[in-house]
Amino acid sequence: MKMVYTHENLFFVSNVKNLIEAKAIDTFLKNEFSQGAIGEISAFDAWPEVWVIDDSDFDRAVDIVKSLHSSNNMVDWICNNCCETNDPSFETCWNCQSENL
Ligand SMILES: [Zn+2]
Repeated sequence: MKMVYTHENLFFVSNVKNLIEAKAIDTFLKNEFSQGAIGEISAFDAWPEVWVIDDSDFDRAVDIVKSLHSSNNMVDWICNNCCETNDPSFETCWNCQSENL
């Protein structure tokens, strides 16, 4: 078993887990319920973690996490060419058709 992803926010971790499982990769969540625990567990140790059951799935799972991060640009972006603000769904500037770099 290998850990693929960890984050202090369970929402992100659950999202990653769902995406990986959508590719028919078996995963489990570690520390899912440890947030809010009081005592000897440090905040970092209590971060939820996504693990893959089968090590042979690890590379695929990491690729999913990477693609998630690289496509995670759901915020408005500013055109480098004309400085107009663009919706995240636009790949090119609505004003001057420059690519979102
Ligand atoms: Zn532009």
